[in-house]
Amino acid sequence: MTQIPVLELQRLSHVYVNDKGASLAVEGIDLAIARGEFISLVGPSGCGKTTILSLLAGLFPPTSGKVLLNGNQVNGPSEKVGYMLQQDYLFPWRTIRDNAAVGLEINGTRSKVTMKAVEEWLVELGLEGSSEKYPHELSGGMRQRVALARTLVTEPEVLLLDEPFSALDLHIKLQLEDLVVRTLQRLGKTAVLVTHDLAEAVAMSDRVIVLGRNPGHIRSEFIVPEEIRAVSPMTARKLSRFQSVFEELWAELDAVDEGGDSNE
Ligand code: ADP
Ligand code: MG
Repeated sequence: MTQIPVLELQRLSHVYVNDKGASLAVEGIDLAIARGEFISLVGPSGCGKTTILSLLAGLFPPTSGKVLLNGNQVNGPSEKVGYMLQQDYLFPWRTIRDNAAVGLEINGTRSKVTMKAVEEWLVELGLEGSSEKYPHELSGGMRQRVALARTLVTEPEVLLLDEPFSALDLHIKLQLEDLVVRTLQRLGKTAVLVTHDLAEAVAMSDRVIVLGRNPGHIRSEFIVPEEIRAVSPMTARKLSRFQSVFEELWAELDAVDEGGDSNE
């Protein structure tokens, strides 16, 4: 029961400093994420979602407070943390196989064995027969699957997902939500998803964290009912309970935006 959280944010604050001065992006964030948990961060534009993910990824140090990974302070990027973004950042001149191997190359672990894993992931994620193709030959949804394969093949413990589905057509997005949840559950991975789609957050997560802004802070937290968690995102959306949780979350976000200047 008293397992160390995979990720922990302790009194985390971040100030961006640039030529226009200093701005407090997030303040006093406390959050513990358990192994295998799927968390979503939701909130208005500018409330610090991407900043929090960047701090979790160790891309830059927080101004104050700490990020702990398995109890150890994060001091930079780690192979244990994978990142997936809205844009797939595939290299147009590389084949799908070689794109999916980029993370391995960065980690210096590309080998016959890991390249076999690349092929297996491509098949697992429904990209059989695409290895020799180039990104322009694939649809947006397929390209995001390549990005997922590229992330998973490095075997991260934690996946950070910054709106990875938001540029996709609805039915492709729903399919990918199912695929991601199923895959991460099977592997027991921990995930932190940033999304502005509340239905997506409820359908995919164990817990939804609502952020407020000026400066970014945690406003409230929703535990998704077991009934919804027990089924796939696609099935979850059809439950009547889903609608009531969605509405509760919606009301909470509406409250965040009260008097705000949201443009999302
Ligand atoms: P979100 O992802 O929730 O939209 P961000 O984390 O991108 O929010 O941004 C949080 C706040 O920090 C915003 O006010 C934004 O303008 C500011 N910010 C983000 N990145 C930078 C940066 N590199 N330099 C200065 N300010 C930034
Ligand atoms: Mg963002």
